[in-house]
Amino acid sequence: MSLKVPNGNPEIQSLKSRLDKVIVSSTNSEDAYIKQTVKLAIESASNLNYGVGAILVDKGGDVVSRGQNQVFYPYFQSGLHAEMDALNQFEEKIRGERVDLKDYTIYTSLEPCPMCMSRILMAGVGFTVYAADDDLGGMVHIIEAYLKSKKELKKQGFDNIGVLPDVWEQFYIKQSFRKADCDLELQKLAIEAFLLNIQQIRSKRK
Ligand SMILES: [Zn+2]
Repeated sequence: MSLKVPNGNPEIQSLKSRLDKVIVSSTNSEDAYIKQTVKLAIESASNLNYGVGAILVDKGGDVVSRGQNQVFYPYFQSGLHAEMDALNQFEEKIRGERVDLKDYTIYTSLEPCPMCMSRILMAGVGFTVYAADDDLGGMVHIIEAYLKSKKELKKQGFDNIGVLPDVWEQFYIKQSFRKADCDLELQKLAIEAFLLNIQQIRSKRK
């Protein structure tokens, strides 16, 4: 598949200038980190990838790695979602060293998909915070809905029902996944960056 990167795409320019106008506020505690993820999301969209960005932040609040979706460009890599990229880069950087990630946070512009959530659970990242919900492809809202109804389901005799295998569910409960405390415009930009190339990508997949 070859997707051509348009020069000076006006939609990308518009997202960039809107992002520049977002003032990091003290009322939304996570604006600064989410703004960085949205910047990466726009960058990935400008390369005709799915527009998603992620950063990994350590206990002290320092950004230790950055990732962006690179599924299509520079060449097809099915697993290279933003969160995967951020974790790959971090693991490459600390090669050989065992780092406990329980006090680390991965910020991402979009609710993680099942693949990225699984990776985050396996990596042991303590906190996952995302700007925008992904009602169609996100995994967090599905697990949350299941966990809320779990007791009721058990009462009704559905003992073996689950959305994750038991061990993974235990990982999920210990780690934390939630929406960011951030400006509404950042949430909108995160969604728009993600949706920007969807139609073009889907039409090439048929
Ligand atoms: Zn993903």
